[in-house]
Amino acid sequence: MVTHRLFCLRCGYAWLPKGIKKPKQCPGCKRNDWNTPGRLSASSFLKCVTIWRLVQNCEKIYKEPAPRDRIKLAAESLEIGNVDVYIKMLKEGIKDKNGLLYRLSVVGQIGMQERLTVTSPVTLGW
Ligand SMILES: [Zn+2]
Repeated sequence: MVTHRLFCLRCGYAWLPKGIKKPKQCPGCKRNDWNTPGRLSASSFLKCVTIWRLVQNCEKIYKEPAPRDRIKLAAESLEIGNVDVYIKMLKEGIKDKNGLLYRLSVVGQIGMQERLTVTSPVTLGW
């Protein structure tokens, strides 16, 4: 049984799957490539980059990787919903139009809480 939520890496839809097999398509956008990271919509991309910047600022201010809860609170105050989805996308890496890759890594935990750090944008060259 799959008991955890799945996320569509294309549209951000989250759902609890019913069966044991990997779902063929996303119930939200009906795409078959829901589990493959790809180009995001402009608004999803902006939200991801905003979260990426929050992590970057948080690291600068506190001189340590950003606790996930602090980022969630800050993102929610900017009215960014589905923060977990965007953080998940950022862990896989998102690309902008020019192939620049934005990524967050987990560098450790405080208790049960993840701490996030930015991987500077790198150009993939395509
Ligand atoms: Zn979808």
